Amino acid sequence: MDSWWELGEGRGAGGMELAIQDITCPFCMERGNFRVAFHATKRHAQRPKVLNFDTLECGSCKGYVLCLWSAGHGLHGYRVLPWPLKIDTHPKEWPEDVGRMWVQAHRSLEGENWDAAAVMARSGLQLALRRSNAVGSSLKKGIEDVASKGLLPPVMREWADTVRELGNDAAHPAPGQSPTDPQDARDIVRFLDYVLEYLYSLPDQIRQYRARRDERHS
Ligand SMILES: [Zn+2]
Repeated sequence: MDSWWELGEGRGAGGMELAIQDITCPFCMERGNFRVAFHATKRHAQRPKVLNFDTLECGSCKGYVLCLWSAGHGLHGYRVLPWPLKIDTHPKEWPEDVGRMWVQAHRSLEGENWDAAAVMARSGLQLALRRSNAVGSSLKKGIEDVASKGLLPPVMREWADTVRELGNDAAHPAPGQSPTDPQDARDIVRFLDYVLEYLYSLPDQIRQYRARRDERHS
């Protein structure tokens, strides 16, 4: 986005009204429990485009967030400040099962549960690779396969070689297994972030872009 006036233009949530039910309080993590405490607007000088500046009050903890939002054609875009630092949902365009594991991997990092974070990240990767029909007996082979089909860029395959937890393919823990190194846990979760971004978010953004372009030319 190059201008705030592009908010809600071709990308965003459904509907012309702010989806308060989708906003999570950054303080108490309750979702959608807000009332509009203050509302102001700014109109574009040339176009029928309005920016809305809303201050929302959380009904649960009485914290406030500032929400800048604007509607386009059947859509609206918004930005909220402050945003929750805890991850509570995955992007809507991701498959539910993969997204759930991604959320749990991040929550495990927040809780400094390094073994759990690595296990969840590996499971999320495995599932994403399976969904992409990856062939290969290990995570690394699966990543190689998906990259060779052009679904992931070569730089991701090279990166995979340096992520130590990707090599830890054992389905069952061995007696005396050493604990996961915190940095290794963070590395594999970061790797998962990028894989999902590339497999699901980028194509979704391109689809939306093309739909917007087709609409303009129709
Ligand atoms: Zn709250």
